[in-house]
Amino acid sequence: MTTLSDQAQVFAPVIRLDVEVLRSAPWSELHGRSCARCGTGLSPETAVDLARHDYKIDDWVNHVSSCRPRLCRRCVPLQLRDTASAIAADDAEPPVPHHLAALVSRLSVALGALIPVVEAAAERHPAGSLRRAGAEAGLSEARVRLAHPPRLGDRGRRFAHAQRLARSVVCLLDHVARLTTAPKVGAS
Ligand SMILES: [Zn+2]
Repeated sequence: MTTLSDQAQVFAPVIRLDVEVLRSAPWSELHGRSCARCGTGLSPETAVDLARHDYKIDDWVNHVSSCRPRLCRRCVPLQLRDTASAIAADDAEPPVPHHLAALVSRLSVALGALIPVVEAAAERHPAGSLRRAGAEAGLSEARVRLAHPPRLGDRGRRFAHAQRLARSVVCLLDHVARLTTAPKVGAS
């Protein structure tokens, strides 16, 4: 069965850490010795590399610092959900066009990797059960969103597409949580 943990490195390019987290993080978390979310020490088996993060250590500083943080596999879905929620927020600002194209592409890859995880988790529940039916509705919505990117469109429309993908990422992560913690037999 495909799990979130199996796909952790595929999700990593989408994941961003908040600048305030970076500003207060210890050296070990900024440079991948320990998980940048929970602080646990990392090994090659548990570590997931994130993309490079560029940030200013304070608003009034011109110098831009860079780091390559890592997460433990357990924290990857949690941080992915936080990142996707921030993208989907009503007051989220669209990135510059070049970054917007990359964002849409990374969200599409992450969503594509999430779909088989949800399918596998849903299949362990009885057909017609509420949890399975809910997950199947989320899956069809995600597939429709992936299949219909705007052909043309200004930055606003393309960012709206990125936000729809991000909402599906959040939705499917919630379904995985529901499907994997609920009783498997006799539950609806
Ligand atoms: Zn962690």
